[in-house]
Amino acid sequence: YTAIKKQENSTTIMLSPQGEPLTDKIVNELAEYEQIIMLCGHYEGFDERIREIIKPREISIGDFVLTGGELPALCLIDSVSRKIEGTLGRIESADEDSFSNGLIEYPQYTRPRDFRGYKVPEVLLNGNHKDIKEYRYQQSLERTKIKRPDLYEQYKKDHPEI
Ligand code: SAM
Repeated sequence: YTAIKKQENSTTIMLSPQGEPLTDKIVNELAEYEQIIMLCGHYEGFDERIREIIKPREISIGDFVLTGGELPALCLIDSVSRKIEGTLGRIESADEDSFSNGLIEYPQYTRPRDFRGYKVPEVLLNGNHKDIKEYRYQQSLERTKIKRPDLYEQYKKDHPEI
């Protein structure tokens, strides 16, 4: 660790099931750093003195235990990279993904318009961008209410107008 050349805008993350659960908010914060140093444990995890000396930010990718920190580190690298200009074709795509606005994403459709009788909703085909936006917002709300009631309750608190 001491051999790493640290940049000015650098942070050190310890991947650990005991850490703060990784969220889109944390991913956005991490995307602001020039350098992220990641510590991956194995076996029993980390000698406690690593926490005391380095004082890393401890991050978990969920309430389950993997054998090592490499896969969590890859999750972190992937999620942070897509928030950085140049990774996605359109950086705005990330703003439309689940969690970025506190809701999960609306349903996605591609071609064909009709697959064995399963049709793309008409509203998405009529070219009216205002209608499409409203339809997607309502779908996001509905899905979040069903799939993630915890997020929905928080969204309602933050947006009492809904
Ligand atoms: N004994 C540790 C505990 O109970 O907290 C678990 C150690 S785990 C077997 C080995 C390593 O895998 C951890 O040090 C960490 O780097 C990584 N790891 C396992 N589960 C993880 C998770 N949910 N999130 C982040 N890292 C995890």
